[in-house]
Amino acid sequence: MENKQIFSGRGLYSRRKFVAHVSYIGIGGLTFSGLSAFASCGLPNNQQAEAQSAEQKAKKKLGIALVGLGGYSSGQLAPALQETQHCYLAGIVTGTPDKIDKWKKKYDIPEKNVYSYESFDSIKDNPNIDIVYVVLPNAMHAEYTIRAAKAGKHVICEKPMAITVEDCDRMIAACKEAGKMLSIGYRLHFEPHNKEMMRLGQEHVFGEILRLKAENGMSSVKGWRLDKELAGGGPLMDVGIYCVQGVRYTTGMEPIAVKAKEGPKTDPDTFKEVEESLIWQLEFPGNIIAECKTSYSEYLNLLRAEARNGWFELSPAYPYRGIKGDTSKGKIDFEQVNQHALQMDDFALAIKENRSTPVPGEMGRQDVKILQAIYKAMETGQRVEII
Ligand code: NAD
Repeated sequence: MENKQIFSGRGLYSRRKFVAHVSYIGIGGLTFSGLSAFASCGLPNNQQAEAQSAEQKAKKKLGIALVGLGGYSSGQLAPALQETQHCYLAGIVTGTPDKIDKWKKKYDIPEKNVYSYESFDSIKDNPNIDIVYVVLPNAMHAEYTIRAAKAGKHVICEKPMAITVEDCDRMIAACKEAGKMLSIGYRLHFEPHNKEMMRLGQEHVFGEILRLKAENGMSSVKGWRLDKELAGGGPLMDVGIYCVQGVRYTTGMEPIAVKAKEGPKTDPDTFKEVEESLIWQLEFPGNIIAECKTSYSEYLNLLRAEARNGWFELSPAYPYRGIKGDTSKGKIDFEQVNQHALQMDDFALAIKENRSTPVPGEMGRQDVKILQAIYKAMETGQRVEII
């Protein structure tokens, strides 16, 4: 109960509270609009028009174009965009013409907002698209983020941000140069149980953290995720990244070194190019150790911290819904939220309010840097410092 109050105080919402909060903003917006319309009566005509257009701009829902209409776009993001308050599904970018009609009908998308990968750059002339959301295989994130920035659009890029740090740097530079914002699809930063792990860890509620355990794995995968060129690696790039994120946001610290070991290949045909599983140990300042594991042949889902005066954990920690938490003093129990809707709404609001996003490109870059250090440690068998 105490936790719930803390969360609503911090502006995170359960599904019910979220709806309530949104209607509160709506009422506030109306009042504000009424007041400013009243106040602007004394202004010259051009200033009145300017004030009104700034206001309309602030109230307008931003248009998002999804690039890549695979499992995540169709199963999670497009449905979530039916619930968002500050952005909506305005356009699609796809290399599969067969998908177009279905998406246009289902989501009421006009023909002029439909692009192929070839026509994508002409999105720059479309004022209905404010944000491009890159939901392609990992190795394609850099190219489409940079093209979107060059087309003058804000960008959300899925995790992992890219497959090399150099690509991350080019993506950040392209968005800066275009004066556009870049965020990474880290939905768990908007999820109450994970936010609670951040609070418990970073505020030392159970005392200093001594060790952590983070595991994320799936029992099978297929397609581009097994192709090193497109995925950049195996389960570490795809789901192990959540462990890296989890131990970073639970401690609020950056790891300084890593040791890693590839797991045995029980299915060498499937895992010709990428690791099947991987264990690694991240070392944080103050001798805090995080033991982590990822796999493409075993279901795993845990984030746990042991501290001087108790422990706290989520199990499962990373799914879209059904996250459960426990501590040495009792349950962590929040309502389940629509993480995707909250994540996209927060980015749209950040753009409208001209404030930074809590999940910027720099955060994605740091994870990619750590992932690369883990692979280096795995390949060399050496302890690798993360500088
Ligand atoms: P998917 O395989 O279901 O979809 C990939 C899409 O990319 C398809 O529409 C495919 O047609 C298109 N594509 C374009 N060029 C391609 C190529 N050369 N090879 C293969 N596909 C190509 O994958 P997904 O699960 O939707 O994942 C897409 C991205 O979203 C990945 O970066 C993944 O890490 C990320 N993702 C994030 C979450 C999350 O919870 N944040 C969940 C799932 C996926």
